[in-house]
Amino acid sequence: MQHPPGTTGTTTTPTESARSALLGAAAFLGLFVAERMYFQAAQQTAHERLVDAHRAADTIALADERLTMSAHMVAATGEQRWIKRYEANIPLIDEAIERAAKIAPDAVSKRFELETKVSNDRLVELERQSFVHASAGSTSVARGVLDSELYDYHKQVLADGTQRFVAGTIGAVASDLQRLTWQSIILLALGFAAALTAMLSLWRRLERSISQTDAAYRDGEARTRHLAMSDFLTNLPNRLALRDQLRTAIGDAERDHRQFIVMMVDLDRFKPINDRYGHISGDHVLKIVAQRIAAFLAPGEICARYGGDEFVVISTCWGSPDVKLAQGMKLIESLNRPIVVDGQMVQVGASIGIASYPADGTSEDKLLRHADLALYRAKQSGRGLARLFSVDMDIDAGARLAAEEEIRGAIAGGQIIPYFQPIVDVASRQIRGFEALARWQHPTRGIVAPIDFIPVAEAAGELANLTMSMLRQACIATRDLPAELTLAVNISPQQIQDEWLSTKILKVLTETGFPPHRLEIELTENALVTDFTAAKRVIQSLKNLGIGIALDDFGTGYSSLYYLSELQFDKIKIDRSFVRTLHERSESAKIINAIIGLGRSLGVPTMAEGVETERDAKVLGDIGCLTAQGYLYSRPVPADQLLRLLQAPGAGLKTASAA
Ligand code: C2E
Ligand code: MG
Ligand code: MG
Repeated sequence: MQHPPGTTGTTTTPTESARSALLGAAAFLGLFVAERMYFQAAQQTAHERLVDAHRAADTIALADERLTMSAHMVAATGEQRWIKRYEANIPLIDEAIERAAKIAPDAVSKRFELETKVSNDRLVELERQSFVHASAGSTSVARGVLDSELYDYHKQVLADGTQRFVAGTIGAVASDLQRLTWQSIILLALGFAAALTAMLSLWRRLERSISQTDAAYRDGEARTRHLAMSDFLTNLPNRLALRDQLRTAIGDAERDHRQFIVMMVDLDRFKPINDRYGHISGDHVLKIVAQRIAAFLAPGEICARYGGDEFVVISTCWGSPDVKLAQGMKLIESLNRPIVVDGQMVQVGASIGIASYPADGTSEDKLLRHADLALYRAKQSGRGLARLFSVDMDIDAGARLAAEEEIRGAIAGGQIIPYFQPIVDVASRQIRGFEALARWQHPTRGIVAPIDFIPVAEAAGELANLTMSMLRQACIATRDLPAELTLAVNISPQQIQDEWLSTKILKVLTETGFPPHRLEIELTENALVTDFTAAKRVIQSLKNLGIGIALDDFGTGYSSLYYLSELQFDKIKIDRSFVRTLHERSESAKIINAIIGLGRSLGVPTMAEGVETERDAKVLGDIGCLTAQGYLYSRPVPADQLLRLLQAPGAGLKTASAA
């Protein structure tokens, strides 16, 4: 199966993308908060440094003022207490100067050390000199020192230095803050850029993931569509796809004024193969069939699996009805070729119904329905055939459905009953047994013959039910008859493929108390052709139960010696067509003769069907036919007449009694 390519490689799922986005956002937020905290702490430090600087400057100014004032008081009064006060303020100014030197920015601090501190020391020296003079009583000299230019000069240097210190510190703090702001801006910008890059890559990832999801979705959609439109087993288009393609074919044909045919193909013997070999082998058969049909197609033609074992072909083949039928038969031939299943050759075969566009319909519905009707007719006509649709089939279709429904009800309602036709010893005319023949006791139509309802029951899939119901009723009707009398029951070809047939029959025999050795199953040769091995197995298990097997209608079908030699039949029933023409065609007598001879050499008794006249009976007796069945002895009669037949003098079978 050609799937659209799957998605391979790694894909980013939406959850992964969301996780990356969250991580990116969290990292950016973390960076932002850390930066803000750092910035605020730095601001706080700068602020404290400024406050410190102002405090130091104030202290210097205050201490200087006090010293100056104390010095002048010493010079004016010579009092010792002012010297003491003076000395008490010395550490204050020293400490403040020391502190300012620390706070000040490097350049300012150096100059502060070189100039301001030195001037302060010089001032202290001068003031102490003036104290010496004042203490010695020379207050004017003392004042002179304090009024000297040198003293003023150092005073000025101290004031300027202090001012410079404050301004320098403010400048330093400001530039620090500015640097910090820039740092912060750069940091934030970097963070933002990083976040942006992360966002961009995230976006790209998201975009990729969206496109991957989209591709996966399309991929899944294509896959789902493919699955929805194709048959999982054969990989052919399915019923749904067929309708689409048929619609397209109709559209194209309408546009191009072309014609085409729709072939409905149904396998003839698929179910028994499926039942016998199991579903795996059944699937294998369907695949081979699909391959054969596909190989049969011309370019542009279409084949679809329509149902279980039904296929539809839209073929461009066109021509006379014969050409179309030949096309159908060609396909049937290819499907007739044996298929190996479980080491056995089986022949599945097919029937085909054909409808033509536009003659038989211009819509999908009509074409399919008409092809199906033609198929039904093909099946009815004996399978392995192709049929073209004709209008009368359409009229039949409704009736057919109704008939199928009716037969279903008839079987369930016990309207299908056995009639019994005696099987007679040709020489003595003694009854040896009875063949049960189905009759439909129709509420309005009276007694209906099997030819009119057996095919319907088969089409409705009800034949197995019919047989079992017949068997049960026939066993009940004949079980109390003399023990040497046999009962023959017909089974359809499909049933002999049913592995459970002997079990089902045994169940009926047990339930009705009918001894198996009195039962004879009649089957025709076409029951053997589908799957001989399976049929052989079922026949063997019936024989193991003691049930007899009769080969019915011999001479009309394959008349294969192979079957006769492979299977030990208990009876060969010569078809009544030979008896009917016994006196008209010399070949008929020769064939009957040959069949009897064949039976004798194989050790299988033969009997004749359709013996209607004394003349038939005489000729058959002379040839060596031991038993017979026919209107001469009795028509098939209902169960309540069995005793009457048996009680007739010498089994009373001189004249035919009405059925
Ligand atoms: P068959 O098994 O070959 O049955 C013999 C048919 O020949 C019967 O037709 C019978 O009525 C008819 N017949 C007997 N003697 C004469 C005669 O002297 N002249 C003429 N013209 N016909 C005679 P019937 O009952 O119509 O059955 C037809 C076929 O339907 C049977 O052929 C059998 O194949 C099938 N059939 C009947 N009952 C059943 C049934 O319960 N199950 C299945 N699967 N098939 C059945
Ligand atoms: Mg029969
Ligand atoms: Mg027969």
